[in-house]
Formats: sequence, structure tokens, C-alpha cells
Amino acid sequence: MNWRTNFKFFKRIVIKVGTSTLTYPNGKLNLQRIEGLVMEMSDLHNQGKEVLLVTSGAVGVGANKMGYKTVPRTIPEKQALAAIGQGALLHLYEKLFAEFGKIVAQVLLSREDLDERTRYLNATNTLEAILNMDVIPIINENDTVAIEEIKFGDNDTLSAMVAALVDADLSIVLSDVNGLYDCDPRINDQACLLDQVEEITRQMEDNSRSRGTHFASGGMITKLRAARICMASGVPMVIANSNNHHVIRRIIGGESLGTLFVPRESKMHARKKWIAFGTVVHGKLHIDNGAENALLNRGKSLLPSGITRVEGSFDRGMVVDVITTDGREVARGMINYDSRETALIAGKKTSEIEKTLGSKDYDEVIHRNNLWIKE
Ligand code: GLU
Repeated sequence: MNWRTNFKFFKRIVIKVGTSTLTYPNGKLNLQRIEGLVMEMSDLHNQGKEVLLVTSGAVGVGANKMGYKTVPRTIPEKQALAAIGQGALLHLYEKLFAEFGKIVAQVLLSREDLDERTRYLNATNTLEAILNMDVIPIINENDTVAIEEIKFGDNDTLSAMVAALVDADLSIVLSDVNGLYDCDPRINDQACLLDQVEEITRQMEDNSRSRGTHFASGGMITKLRAARICMASGVPMVIANSNNHHVIRRIIGGESLGTLFVPRESKMHARKKWIAFGTVVHGKLHIDNGAENALLNRGKSLLPSGITRVEGSFDRGMVVDVITTDGREVARGMINYDSRETALIAGKKTSEIEKTLGSKDYDEVIHRNNLWIKE
């Protein structure tokens, strides 16, 4: 598959912007560049694409606002600056996106949000709901409350996890490096920028570690880690220099900018694998013939009305098997309701969920994105 020429057909795109892209070396905001990127993202959105922005800069903007020449070292001070800067950063994005008629939503994630299944599911559903509203999520780590030992720690990793979370078609990481080279370009002027990487080797990682602060700024090593997550999740990832004029448009247009990391697995395959083999199955849902047809032949989600019986004890976000009237296990999926709730709404219409449970968080018991159909 020629990945780059297919980018223009891709719908869901995660774009990560690093502090080096947002600010001048003196720490002040590079307004022209930010405005250019916001325009490009708004233009993508106008083409009917879904855009998720993962942005750094909270600590840097906070430090600058408070007149600090360097970022202080203590964690509480950094966290305080993140609180100060995040508001300012979002204010700026909101204003610029509004100029192009776009609505944005601030999403601050912490590592625990993705580690625990129920919260993982909740984060996925919230992001899906924001995208369904045609709104652009602006995502950062919740630095102010993040605990040092269990942070994402860097937004390269965060952006890759977001890309995996929402099943993105493409992830673009913009920074002040051109991409990955076959050797250090500062030492060797014959160094070649790699157009495409199929496998991250030990040597690539070692090279990235030994690089000095400028070339590795933000860290090529964290970008390689992010690329690994994307590749394993079936999401192609491009690292490119935000200095390139119209960088986003050109990447989506298929131009050979930066380095493309080719996913090892197809997206469906990676997701299927996780649901099929990556988790323990905690229960069984028996479904009627109508639901079987909707799931297997029409690619639909599983609604409560098609469920005839619930077996097992499970929480929201756990994986369950789906069984037909003749006892075949035809699908497996991550469930939106726990076993007690599912039993209560089984056989009922979606419109009756709220009356039955007192509230309705989801229409679907298993969303089709979280459903693996056995072949
Ligand atoms: N979350 C941090 C911030 O907004 C940035 C982390 C990073 O640059 O990777 O300042």
C-alpha cells in the first residue's frame, strides 16, 4: 500500500504540536505560526475531516506569562505554571479557531484515565461525542494534578495514545526536527532523512538517545516511543518540521515531508486483536435473530432491544461474548453497561434506558467500534 498517496482519503487525524513549534527561542508565542496551523486545521475540518489537536505549551506559556526566564525545577511550581499557562493557551486557540468558525473543546487527560478500562471507555466515548458535535478537541496532559511517577510525561506519547484511543487514521507530530535521519546530521553532512520507516531498530533508538539537546529537542526518543505505539495500534505516524510552509496540507496531500512510520498491523487487525485476545472475557450476552442480522450483516452496534439474556458479572468497559439463539459465539465486544444494568435494559427499547436505569449514558450496549465480529 502506498500510504502517503492515501492520506487524502483519511478522515480522522491527530495533530501534535510541540512547545518548540508554538514559541520562539525566547519563550514568547510564535503567533504567526500558531495562526497558520490553526488555519490549516480548520481547512481540514472544512473538508469534512475530524481533527484532534494535542498541544503542549502550558508550562512554557505559564512561565512566560509570569516573567520566568527558565522553567523552574520544582514540581509544584511547574504544575502551578501549567495551570496558569493552560488557560492562556486555550484562550488563544479558542480565539483563533473561532475566526475560522470552529468550536473547540478542552480535554485534559491523565495517565490513569487511559489505564483503567472504565475510564478508558469513558474517555473514548467523550472524544467520540465531541467529534460527533463537529467540535475540535484540544488535548493536553492534565499537568496540574498529574503525579510525576505516573505521567504520560511527554505529549508525543500522549498523542500516540490518543490516536490509538480514537482509532485515528493518521497521526502527525510537528516539531523542530525534520524527521528521523539515518545518522546524526550535525556530525555527518551526508546524513539522509528517512522517508519511511517500517521497523524501529535498536540502532535508531541508540542514535536518538545520544543526540544533543538541540537536534533531539523535545526528544527524538519520545517520538520513536510514540511511533511504536502508533505502529502497534495500526495508525500511520508522520514526524515533520512545522517550519515547512503549509506542512499539514502538504502531508495530507501525499508529499514526502518528514518521516512516515508505517503501521505493522492494519487498524482493524490491531483493534480486533486487542478485543479478541488482549483481554479476559467476563460474560455473555445472548441476542435474538434480529440483532444477529444487524451485527453480522449490517455492521450495526448492539442495542438493548436485541439482548435476550445476560450471563456473568462484569463492569462497564469489560469484554463480553455475544451468543446467537443457536448458541454460536459470533462476536466479542467492550460493553457500555455493567451486568446488572444490561440485565435490566435487555429486550427494551433505547428510549426506555433512562426510565429503567434512572439515566442513560449510551444508546448502544456495545458500540460497533468496540465490537469484534468473529470471521
Ligand atoms: N504537557 C506539557 C505542557 O503543556 C508538555 C509536555 C511536552 O512538551 O511533551 O507544557
